[in-house]
Amino acid sequence: MNLSRRDFLKICGAGAVTLGVGAKFAPDALTTGSRKVPVAPFRGNGVLIDASACVGCKSCQRACKIANNLPSDGRETSLSATTLTIVDFKNISPKIDQPEIKPVKKQCMHCDNPACVSVCPVGALVKTESGAVTYDADKCMGCRYCMMACPFGVPKYDWNSPNPKINKCAQSCMANGKSATPACVQACPVKALAYGSREELLATAHARIAQNPTKYVNHVYGEHEIGGTSMLYLSSVPFEQLGFRTDLPSEPLPNLTWAAQEKIPAVLVAVASLLSGIAWWTHRKPANKLVEAPVEVPTE
Ligand code: SF4
Ligand code: SF4
Ligand code: SF4
Repeated sequence: MNLSRRDFLKICGAGAVTLGVGAKFAPDALTTGSRKVPVAPFRGNGVLIDASACVGCKSCQRACKIANNLPSDGRETSLSATTLTIVDFKNISPKIDQPEIKPVKKQCMHCDNPACVSVCPVGALVKTESGAVTYDADKCMGCRYCMMACPFGVPKYDWNSPNPKINKCAQSCMANGKSATPACVQACPVKALAYGSREELLATAHARIAQNPTKYVNHVYGEHEIGGTSMLYLSSVPFEQLGFRTDLPSEPLPNLTWAAQEKIPAVLVAVASLLSGIAWWTHRKPANKLVEAPVEVPTE
């Protein structure tokens, strides 16, 4: 196909108009429903959970129910809208006839850069300076975007409610002030749980590993996973045996999703520019051709 210089400039012009319109509207459309969350690590508080010390008494689970005024039938085995923390019992033995059970407390990880916060269209989930990712049921509209975004499967839907919403550990017990130790931490009789500044808890965790290298695996879970979390774990067995995801990146998930989302307008604009150029080229008016056709000069 032969393109004249003028044709080429026209196609570029059509593309540029599309590009300008796309660039003007696409980013705003993306930021209206969702908000980016800060990338910098939070200096707030957290909880260090030493799974090697846990004896599986479920005192933390019961204390959480009482603190949050939630019902219990004593048979909970997983997180739900009425069970915000659960003591999970994992059999880590490879031998079927010789089970070795390890208990571990689980709840919201209170991510430093929470995927749930980045997708909530009404701001019901907020990462606070205290370290907690709080949840406001009055704002929640039950869209369940946070359930899809959370890499730990934490937010749970209240299927029994006529006006269903999600629920999760919001650490409201510690969001009101840095001295308010969460009920679950207070209840632990063997001090497997410790509450404090995330930086100090990390230092404590690494000191314990250094002092007991044969007792602990050399990994503080939550230090780097998806950019870091306020809940930190120590363990004497590999974390995958306790049911933790070990395939997570150290990059905050909102960064990854936004990196992909922000490319969408550029890709769409590029495709739209190309299509508009092709459309203009294939639908040119015949009159244009007549104007540009060589003019025959009659000879005498
Ligand atoms: S921090 Fe509060 S809401 Fe979260 S598990 Fe502990 S007691 Fe329950
Ligand atoms: S664990 Fe899930 S629900 Fe909790 S802060 Fe992180 S993304 Fe949100
Ligand atoms: S209270 Fe402490 S020891 Fe008991 S189940 Fe919870 S974390 Fe484990």
